[in-house]
Amino acid sequence: MAGERDTTIGANTPTGTDPAPGIHTAPGADTAPVRSSSTPLFQQQHPAVHESNFAGAGRFAPSPSGELHFGNLRTAVLAWAIARATGRAFYLRIEDIDSQRSRATFATRQIEDLVDLGIDVDEPIITQSARLAVYESALEYLREQDLVYPCFCSRKDISHAAEAPHLPPGAYPGTCRHLSPLEQQERFADFAAQHRKSAFRLKSDNSQVHLRDLLYGETSAFVDDLVLRRGGANEDFAYNLAVVIDDHYQGIDQVVRGVDLLDSAPRQAYLAGLLGVQVPQYVHVPLVVNGEGRRLSKRDGAVTLQQMRDSVGLAGVQRLLLDSLGFTELASLSDVPEVIDPKLLDTQSYTFTEEALAQAGRSMQAVRCPGER
Ligand SMILES: [Zn+2]
Repeated sequence: MAGERDTTIGANTPTGTDPAPGIHTAPGADTAPVRSSSTPLFQQQHPAVHESNFAGAGRFAPSPSGELHFGNLRTAVLAWAIARATGRAFYLRIEDIDSQRSRATFATRQIEDLVDLGIDVDEPIITQSARLAVYESALEYLREQDLVYPCFCSRKDISHAAEAPHLPPGAYPGTCRHLSPLEQQERFADFAAQHRKSAFRLKSDNSQVHLRDLLYGETSAFVDDLVLRRGGANEDFAYNLAVVIDDHYQGIDQVVRGVDLLDSAPRQAYLAGLLGVQVPQYVHVPLVVNGEGRRLSKRDGAVTLQQMRDSVGLAGVQRLLLDSLGFTELASLSDVPEVIDPKLLDTQSYTFTEEALAQAGRSMQAVRCPGER
């Protein structure tokens, strides 16, 4: 595998001792990550939860920074239906890695919303804030491979830095990568005096990483020295690191999520390779947009489940979810796993309008029980 520099990451890439299975490295990248053969693989230190009853697992992983809106709910339905259609477990993960924006009350509400829609979730539900020790051990594992370095740059430092000539615009220019141990000590001391913490970055091989998405096909992104742990007051672990570790832990071999995260997939696949864990099958799905074509948000009116129920009832919301996915002939969301084929999904965004919601509500009025909200 190590010599296959033109290979694309496909679904269910086998895992093994290859440091980066199937990852295509762009010409010009000269330093493949090297793993010391004496260190046990991260995946051996932290085995996945074994779920013998299921053929793999899918997941929905919301951030509890607000209530789920129609777009989030639609993605949840797709992730659940595609997992169930293929005999997979379906897990929920509360991605409260951003300690500033996350609220436990939103996590509770999000779980209730999924239950109310009829999405059955397998136990256990995991919460990222309870797993910080595992992320720390993953960071330590990468550190032992000499794949981590401290970064003292502020956002401003990075935006003002001269672009590295061999890197694409926006890539971290590598400012702190080549600090000597003495320079690092001096910077750590400066930061300590100011009660600041450094970030930690991955020593990547700065390459274009390709993979295949089940719906969107071939995709690639430049993987630079991405942040693994943030600096500042909270020292939050980075989303990309936590996602890879948690997907491995939960036995997730199929990731269905919004297409806005398509660019993250090569980064996560690259990290998975370094950690020796399985790269899941990726199925990115189209977003829901507002009337102006922008991604739906809570600012776009009454779009949370509670607000929509108040307006058209739960059955009306379920009707619009079905209609938005093209399942106009189905009577219930519970029927979706029977008929869904993720390869045949429309890749166009779905435009949410209050009129479409009202129409879905009216179409359900005949079958709605009096008094039901
Ligand atoms: Zn830096």
